[in-house]
Amino acid sequence: CGVFGIWGHPDAAQITYYGLHSLQHRGQEGAGIVVSDGEQLSHHKAVGLVNDVFGKGELEHLIGSGAIGHVRYSTSGGGGYENVQPLLFRSQGGGLALAHNGNLVNANALKHQLEGQGSIFQTTSDSEVLAHLIKRSGYFSLEDKVKNALTMIKGAYAFLIMTEKQMMVALDPHGLRPLSLGRLDDAFVVASETCAFDIVGAEYIRDVEPGELLVIDENGLRSERFSSSVSRAICSMEYIYFSRPDSNIENINVHTARKSLGKKLALEAPVEADIVTGVPDSSTSAAIGYAEASGIPYEMGLIKNRYVGRTFIQPSQEMRERGVKMKLSPVRGVVEGKKVVVIDDSIVRGTTSRRIVNMLRDAGAKEVHVRISSPPIVSPCYYGIDTSTSGELIASSHSVEEIREEIGADSLAYLSVEGMLEGIGRNSKDQNCGQCLGCFTRSYPTEIYPDTVHPYEK
Ligand code: 5GP
Ligand code: SF4
Ligand code: MG
Repeated sequence: CGVFGIWGHPDAAQITYYGLHSLQHRGQEGAGIVVSDGEQLSHHKAVGLVNDVFGKGELEHLIGSGAIGHVRYSTSGGGGYENVQPLLFRSQGGGLALAHNGNLVNANALKHQLEGQGSIFQTTSDSEVLAHLIKRSGYFSLEDKVKNALTMIKGAYAFLIMTEKQMMVALDPHGLRPLSLGRLDDAFVVASETCAFDIVGAEYIRDVEPGELLVIDENGLRSERFSSSVSRAICSMEYIYFSRPDSNIENINVHTARKSLGKKLALEAPVEADIVTGVPDSSTSAAIGYAEASGIPYEMGLIKNRYVGRTFIQPSQEMRERGVKMKLSPVRGVVEGKKVVVIDDSIVRGTTSRRIVNMLRDAGAKEVHVRISSPPIVSPCYYGIDTSTSGELIASSHSVEEIREEIGADSLAYLSVEGMLEGIGRNSKDQNCGQCLGCFTRSYPTEIYPDTVHPYEK
């Protein structure tokens, strides 16, 4: 998912719309905006793309100087209107709106407990739990209620919380998801990715820190802490696959990181070939890096139909299979008679790689060598990225050689974990370089609760 918020700007909803538009790659199933005019909260949300949801004058009704917005990609709780965010709760004391990127690992346990105490949930998403915990907290001020509630949830979260009078921004103690703070004139802006700042003309200030709570209101911005034990474990997949190449995560440009992953891959897994090609769009940067380091020319061997969305965001396997077919085409004039190295950022189920190898062979490629700019994904993600269930993850039960055979490539190699950490090049002394490596190493930064059912295993 993607979140965007702004406080202190007369065109808050319009700016949030542009921000969400630039975060569209983070979720394509639903979009919504809640706006505050200081007295009340108004909202609009629907299933669909940002443009479809806000294309018919809906923004005109969203008047106010504070806004939070969300684009949804359902890893948990399923699709449907009620799970589209921001969630909005009305009570006699006023409204509370909430937008969440990430996935909580103890949501089921908390929900069970809350329902036992009489809570009734509007949605099946994990995000709603926080609102109930805030409302039930015995503390007096909203800020203390929020802090108290945050100490009870575990997992990955970048939360935007808004009332008529305040916006609050919280990042989990491991900083699993990216979240940045910026400024636009007198207003503060926050976004999942810095590309949203560029689009709206905001100036980047800094990344929100793990365990930090920002409180933004008429008195300006205050930084508070709700957790004292913090250790950064930003999702590696944000660098490898998920984020937009023009975004920076903790001052590392995503395209540049991918390009150096490609360079590392060329050093770790060289191959004799005539051309290097990437799987557009997410692997283009890595392919450029591989070509640069290997001296093999980069070519456009595959093109993408730009009117088809990200394949994995289509929830069923059948839809995904069809998506790949519609999305990518080989360039016969480029690959015919050639030994081709294809770079992809990851193999999840193997669907994409298998099709691409077939496609390139059908288009006349003499040899097809597959190189992956991340380590094998051997274990599911519990934090909000759809790396699928163990059963569907091809690398959880197959060796590299077996996968090579399965996808029909002449050769296959992945980047090592060390190569990935060096390639991304984060400035950190920790062994994990401040990154989450859970899906590659099975070692997760948080506890995984016995009832943390993977969303797709429900
Ligand atoms: P597969 O086809 O092996 O299931 O998925 C891998 C391909 O889909 C890669 O091209 C990658 O860019 C893209 N991709 C799809 N879904 C995801 C996802 O949730 N995580 C990751 N890592 N890559 C995905
Ligand atoms: Fe990212 Fe993998 Fe960690 Fe999930 S398990 S947060 S996909 S690095
Ligand atoms: Mg891809």
